[in-house]
Amino acid sequence: MKISDILSRKRTLSFEVFPPKKGAEEIPELLETVSRLKELGPDFISVTYGAGGTNAREATAVSGHIKAMGVEPLAHITGGPSSPSDVERVVKELSDYGVENVLALRGDRPNGFSEEYCKYFPHATDLLEFLGDRFCLGAACYPEGHTECETLREDIVNLRKKQDAGAKFLITQIFYDNSYYYRLLHEAGKMGVTVPIIPGIMPLISAKNIARIKTMCGSTIPLDFRNMIESFSKNPLVMREIGINYAVYQIIDLIAKGAPGIHLYIMNRADTAAEICGRLKNVLNELF
Ligand code: FAD
Repeated sequence: MKISDILSRKRTLSFEVFPPKKGAEEIPELLETVSRLKELGPDFISVTYGAGGTNAREATAVSGHIKAMGVEPLAHITGGPSSPSDVERVVKELSDYGVENVLALRGDRPNGFSEEYCKYFPHATDLLEFLGDRFCLGAACYPEGHTECETLREDIVNLRKKQDAGAKFLITQIFYDNSYYYRLLHEAGKMGVTVPIIPGIMPLISAKNIARIKTMCGSTIPLDFRNMIESFSKNPLVMREIGINYAVYQIIDLIAKGAPGIHLYIMNRADTAAEICGRLKNVLNELF
């Protein structure tokens, strides 16, 4: 089923998984995780794709398995340095698996990339246009602005281009201060972005991830939250409790204020997803 059709009826609950790093032999383990996630009733599960298509085969296979398990997959594709024929190959595999939804991305560029890098798909908009109406298409957006843009306004001008190029819904980069998400909704709305913007939440359950989050995603960690983490950084059990409680707090606020769905970045941890959903049983019922 197309995610745009689901969103036209209800608010969504979704999870993101990444294909196994060591290759196809680890797919069965991931599918056990997917089967536990299925019990939580997600509307879709998204599957990441390596920048440059390094793991394209495993990624498409995982999407195919998810579809066969009766859950709607959202297959990510990064255009990046791929050629049109590389993308066509992935399109064919996904279509053969019956996948209907694709999140079209550019992917991160490596440091010191040359002019030739991203020759065919310099932006997600190029991939969106290339994919046309072959899938129900989504794209990424950034509550604090994408790191390559000097201003949020510039990034939102480009976001509008993603809608014009065919994106039917958007999923945000992670954020830990909901006011960035509400500001994005407001500013994107002023720029004519009307498609649903689904907030992406990643429970921060390990102190060592703080630095990574700042460098990889540019997401701000509010001072209060940072202080809590730093006070207990040596106690993993407390850290986990804090991270899960903070994500629960963010989700309650987002649902209360009418977010069109909740997308959980769970780093392939079904236990984390189950704990969050367990604490929010009645709140999540408000999504349906
Ligand atoms: P773009 O939309 O191309 O944006 C990149 C920059 O170019 C931005 O600054 C934007 O403002 C600007 N821009 C956009 N369109 C235009 C245009 N037409 N003309 C001029 N400038 C433009 N990475 C992976 O490798 N694999 C994944 O599976 C993956 N999944 C992700 C899922 C989500 C929900 C998010 C938020 C990110 C994901 N990423 C993934 C990371 C993503 O690839 C990087 O953030 C990358 O740097 C930008 O990708 P994009 O699709 O937003 O690119």
